Amino acid sequence: MSLHYDHADVIIVGGGMVGLALACALKDSGLHIVILERGEPPVRKSLGRDCRVSAIVMGNVKILQGLGVWKYLEADAGPMRSMRIWDNQEQGGIRFDASEIKQEALGYLIENSATQLAMHKTLLESDTVEFCSPAEISTVNWLEDKVEVKLADGRQLSTPLIVGADGGRSWIREQAGIGVWQRDYKQKGIVATVRPEHPHRGIAYQRFLPTGPLAMLPMSDNLCSIVWSAENSEAERLMAMDDERFLAALNATFGPVLGRITEAGERAAFPLIGRLTKHFVRERVVLIGDAAHCIHPLAGLGVNLGLRDAMVLAQEIVDARRFDEDWGELPVLNRYMKQRLPDVLSIMASMESFHQIFTSTIPGMKEVRGLGMRVMGNSGGIKQLLMRNSTGISLPVPKQIS
Ligand SMILES: Cc1cc2nc3c(=O)[nH]c(=O)nc-3n(C[C@H](O)[C@H](O)[C@H](O)COP(=O)(O)OP(=O)(O)OC[C@H]3O[C@@H](n4cnc5c(N)ncnc54)[C@H](O)[C@@H]3O)c2cc1C
Repeated sequence: MSLHYDHADVIIVGGGMVGLALACALKDSGLHIVILERGEPPVRKSLGRDCRVSAIVMGNVKILQGLGVWKYLEADAGPMRSMRIWDNQEQGGIRFDASEIKQEALGYLIENSATQLAMHKTLLESDTVEFCSPAEISTVNWLEDKVEVKLADGRQLSTPLIVGADGGRSWIREQAGIGVWQRDYKQKGIVATVRPEHPHRGIAYQRFLPTGPLAMLPMSDNLCSIVWSAENSEAERLMAMDDERFLAALNATFGPVLGRITEAGERAAFPLIGRLTKHFVRERVVLIGDAAHCIHPLAGLGVNLGLRDAMVLAQEIVDARRFDEDWGELPVLNRYMKQRLPDVLSIMASMESFHQIFTSTIPGMKEVRGLGMRVMGNSGGIKQLLMRNSTGISLPVPKQIS
């Protein structure tokens, strides 16, 4: 797609869910936004579905509703009304029901491609957002009052602010000389869409194995999305199996809760690496979504954090413009960083503890874990607090960007 101007008020590098959410949040601001996306637009595949699926928690469904994206997604979204967690030692389990926090669902399961396509549709309502793909950036030059971007095909653009929304291995982060703290879990997350024999009734199942969790998440049309985290060598073995052997392994591991799993679509495996950027912002550059933080998918919160980044950043940019501030400068960008850091750090820390507790082989840990689950299951207060936090409903719904 061509670029109409050689200047943008904001350049977003990366048209994944988080970069697109930022563009949606800014689409009525009057600012000229350019999204540069390296890849082609997404397509749906596995069992007629995209095998990459995300649980969007209730607090963030409200964000998508506010952005005008939800109306294009509703028909494809499978409600997750309850969640059951248990471990391989059968030491106890825990159950979370949306009704306990007076919500219709804990969240919704949506294919990533469906979310992206819905965001593209929303952006068509605006004539100030340009989506440029495939676009390969060759150089980024940081000057005092602007950033100059050169594309591989020779086109050039300048902007007061470049946003790195280009995923976990962010090229923009690297160009800005920003390092990361990184933890390689030495695991891969295998994802696939599968068909169970019995109705899932909107229940998400998470089974903790010593090697990592196996999640069976309810989608629309009684399909389920699995995220099977396994150590690298085991993940490679599972990926190399034909469909019949894979289904047998899945049935043996997951058990008969939903009857037999009868069909599995295309599989994909993602290396599980936790990352946290050492700086969310630098003069004229800001990182959002996985470019700023990658967390273990066991809680299904990665894109949920990213959506909140996008909303907070959009609000800060719009406020800066209203008060005639340069939104590429550090005082504005630091306001974004200060609001987002506590949320990101607390989610990352709790996911790390969860992972440790459920994979630890320390003697006695399985009994402690069982006791912990029973205590939490019987304590309405603790459970409700955990549910309110993880579904994002205790957080303020971001203001409508205006
Ligand atoms: C197995 C698994 C299951 C998960 N399940 C969940 C879940 O249930 N719920 C949840 O909230 N999260 C989940 N996550 C995490 C979630 O997928 C990510 O947090 C989310 O996709 C991040 O979105 P993003 O837009 O920041 O980055 P990405 O989705 O990585 O998008 C980055 C975009 O930038 C583009 N790009 C990259 N480099 C460049 C460049 N140099 N120039 C231009 N464009 C570029 C890429 O093509 C891509 O389109 C899961 C992750 C995994 C691995």
